[in-house]
Amino acid sequence: MPEPHTLAISEIFGSAQGEGSRCGVPSIFIRLAGCRVRCPYCDTRKAWSDGKAMTIDEIAGEVLRLRKRSPQSQIVLTGGEPLEQDVTDLVAYLRQKKFFIAIETSGLYFRDLPIDWWTVSPKDVAGFRIHPRVIPEMDEVKLIVNRNLTLAVIRRITRRAAEIPVFLQPQFFNRSKYRQTLRFFEEIQQAGIKNVRLGFQLQALYGIR
Ligand code: SF4
Repeated sequence: MPEPHTLAISEIFGSAQGEGSRCGVPSIFIRLAGCRVRCPYCDTRKAWSDGKAMTIDEIAGEVLRLRKRSPQSQIVLTGGEPLEQDVTDLVAYLRQKKFFIAIETSGLYFRDLPIDWWTVSPKDVAGFRIHPRVIPEMDEVKLIVNRNLTLAVIRRITRRAAEIPVFLQPQFFNRSKYRQTLRFFEEIQQAGIKNVRLGFQLQALYGIR
């Protein structure tokens, strides 16, 4: 008998989406382990290496248990970098169960999957590269504000994704980083670049995950 297909999972938990256009939507987060991007400011470092091998049946059991408590939940595939693993079977299962499926990815990898909502967060350490096949899928972009995020980068990204919102996220959630983000937001407005929005984290306000 062949071994059942497993995925390395960091954690599965219920909460609400805290960022972006779908902020506040009840969500079941499936955090896949592993990420080769290695951002120095990563707030999910434990997901780089602590994955537990789980079969689709085991993941399904946990997801359905959480859905009983919050039946309207969407699924958020996150990481780590969720597209470093082959999530084809997992996505097929979630579709069959009629979940709305969102993904949070760096945009470096593409898999042709029936995902409803793509949040793409291109990273400075990867030169803000986005896989060309990810670009038409994108529903929103999230960018961490630091010294590597320049007006030229914002222009390049908004040119490739003209009609979708681009959220600016502070690198850390403290006053000085919020101020830095606000200053950059004002520069962007003065430069006449469209569709850029100030972002925040609902989970920091509510003290949830
Ligand atoms: S891409 Fe995301 S998960 Fe990976 S290191 Fe950067 S912030 Fe962390």
